[in-house]
Amino acid sequence: MTAGAFTYSGGKVEPGESSTIRYRISETYLGDPVKIPVSIVNGANPGPTLFMTAAAHGDELNGIEVVREVALDWDHSKLHGTLILLPVLNVPAFLAQQRYLPIYDRDLNRSFPGDQESTSAKRMAHTIFTNFIEPADLGLDFHTSTRGRTNMLHARGDLAREDVFRLAHAFGSHVIIDTEGSEGTLRREATDSGAPTITVEMGEAHRFQRELIDRALEGVASVLAEFEMWPDEPVHWPGWRATITAEEKTWLRAESGGIVEMHAERGDLVAAGETIATITNPFKTERTTVESPWTGLLVGVLENPVVYPGNPLCHLVEVDEATQAVIEQGVADTHAADEE
Ligand SMILES: [Zn+2]
Repeated sequence: MTAGAFTYSGGKVEPGESSTIRYRISETYLGDPVKIPVSIVNGANPGPTLFMTAAAHGDELNGIEVVREVALDWDHSKLHGTLILLPVLNVPAFLAQQRYLPIYDRDLNRSFPGDQESTSAKRMAHTIFTNFIEPADLGLDFHTSTRGRTNMLHARGDLAREDVFRLAHAFGSHVIIDTEGSEGTLRREATDSGAPTITVEMGEAHRFQRELIDRALEGVASVLAEFEMWPDEPVHWPGWRATITAEEKTWLRAESGGIVEMHAERGDLVAAGETIATITNPFKTERTTVESPWTGLLVGVLENPVVYPGNPLCHLVEVDEATQAVIEQGVADTHAADEE
């Protein structure tokens, strides 16, 4: 097999070459172009094509740093295959530092694969999808929790698909959540178009969280190893792993409005009946405690400590006893290793 040029509408990148471009995907009210940054790294050796995307939600920043560091800091001389790197997918939302496109608050991550004849969001999605997503063989889409909350680093994918299963395991996070994904999400539509894709969730919006970024970079390196894009490197084993099937109602919601004190942290395993949070009135004279309805893993928690009734407090994923044992053992091992 010989390496071929990577082509997109308007250009190409030959094997052994890299290119950074600002690619036009729309126009503003003033008629100025809306351009997204794209780096293409075409390895000298043949291999698969991997896309990496971040900031499909404009205020979810951690992934931006992951994608930029892969583009700029990594040695690409040993690369087999091609990297398509899109650090800021949703440029209008990124400029506004908000989740949705400022244009009618549309969700770019429900607009894929896009449509050239439809809304502005779907037209942008179409241009991105046809040029940089469809040509890929696999993909990693980086997100964080919504503003005011935080997430454990974890992968999400449709594990019923063998190729997604392989990718999610290669990434090497402790936790994998098995979901098909909503229609219109980049990961689901890319997977359906033949580029098996996982979402990586990590931390909170509006932040660079170095520890999470470093762990995600390890995950990317491991994916490159697994798919022989870095054929001589090892695949990362996280030490312990829990695969969780997401149930619909795993967000625990506040029943009363107030100010919240969380008693557990992101990544904690909480027992049934354990107090997770206390909600107090402004005088702190009345309090409501929130107990865990089952034993589960706190995949996501509230960071901004205020709620109306109905607001989410934490994303608590139920785990069966076997998974619980894996997590408990794994966490104990991790701590033991830390102490050495
Ligand atoms: Zn997101």
